[in-house]
Amino acid sequence: MRVPQGPIVRPLDTISPTLYDSALLCKARAAWQAFGQRDTLPSHPAALLGQAYHAVMEAAILGRLGATGEEVEERGRALFESRTERLFKSSHPLLRAKFGRWDRLPYYSLYMERAAQKAASLRRADPAKRRLEPESSDQPSATRRLTEKELFSSDRRIKGRPDYVDLDQGAVIDYKSGAALQIANDEMTDSERRQLTLYAFLLRENEVAVTRGIIDRADGRRAEVAISVEAAEREAANARTVQDEFNNAAAILDFQGLANASPISCASCPCIPLCEQFWNNANKDWSSSVGVHVGGRVEHISTVEVSGVQVASISVGVDSGTVQSGPSTVEQIPTQWLTCDSSDLPSAGDYVRVVDAKISSDDPLVIVTDKAMTSVWTQPRAERPQDA
Ligand code: SF4
Repeated sequence: MRVPQGPIVRPLDTISPTLYDSALLCKARAAWQAFGQRDTLPSHPAALLGQAYHAVMEAAILGRLGATGEEVEERGRALFESRTERLFKSSHPLLRAKFGRWDRLPYYSLYMERAAQKAASLRRADPAKRRLEPESSDQPSATRRLTEKELFSSDRRIKGRPDYVDLDQGAVIDYKSGAALQIANDEMTDSERRQLTLYAFLLRENEVAVTRGIIDRADGRRAEVAISVEAAEREAANARTVQDEFNNAAAILDFQGLANASPISCASCPCIPLCEQFWNNANKDWSSSVGVHVGGRVEHISTVEVSGVQVASISVGVDSGTVQSGPSTVEQIPTQWLTCDSSDLPSAGDYVRVVDAKISSDDPLVIVTDKAMTSVWTQPRAERPQDA
């Protein structure tokens, strides 16, 4: 697969909670989120399943899945499957090459079951409020009006789309499909708190008062934060400042110039394959935060057939990434992963970036792939400005 191009950077007219969060870490990361050709990078399978999970939550909240718990579960599963199928069929070719079908994505059944159970519990929690309303109702309820609706601040500089607003409880709720194993039971991350606080600000700007923010996780855990008017105003002011800083920088810098590589900002950043700053700055000490990423020159590539699948082993002279420099072997990569975007197999002299891999041996350095995570990107020798 060829390394994708960075986006053409423009000013941000509006800033959303996720864009705000990215810009706090790295302006280039935010630029990719706002302007990048996102279909040129494969998403994590969990992100795709998370989108389907959210579709089920939205339908359940809007009362579109039926009247009884059994109906809701059954229709929730059907919606989850159809949405995952649709997302998978339009997903990056690497994801399709790896898994072949949407229902082979890792933890597909677990996500589907959690979505169905959560959808049913939403109805059980408050059946009167979530009673099925006719789609054609002339007077949609406030719940329906606010669910998954894009809200803007009065100056239209901040926008956001809350999952659900519970008017009786004065709470804005965000449903998370991931388990967030790194945090304790009733805690939320700073990023989740910022997101809920900005939603509270946006709701107030739209004449809806909420005083609490709730994170509702698919594994049953919930975390809650009280949100004062002052806290919401403060977060909105910070978001506007971050937007101004981004726009000032974007007026004079391109994507690579905006990048601010560090173990904290680059953790889980989708831009790693194309970010020169990352490859110029990362070192072995970053691996505990950002994972295993390997950049270097191809010295030799060989292919062999294993159980009917053609796999490649690549000898790489490592000179960048989060592993030690020197000779290494990247073992048993299905060749389909390398050519699924119609690229040629890399050859000696080309440069490769192996992203989100695993180390199977330190000495000699042997890198293996992870089916859910790993991607391998090629820069042909002739196209590397460094080699000209
Ligand atoms: S990889 Fe790091 S430096 Fe590059 S865009 Fe992402 S966060 Fe910024």
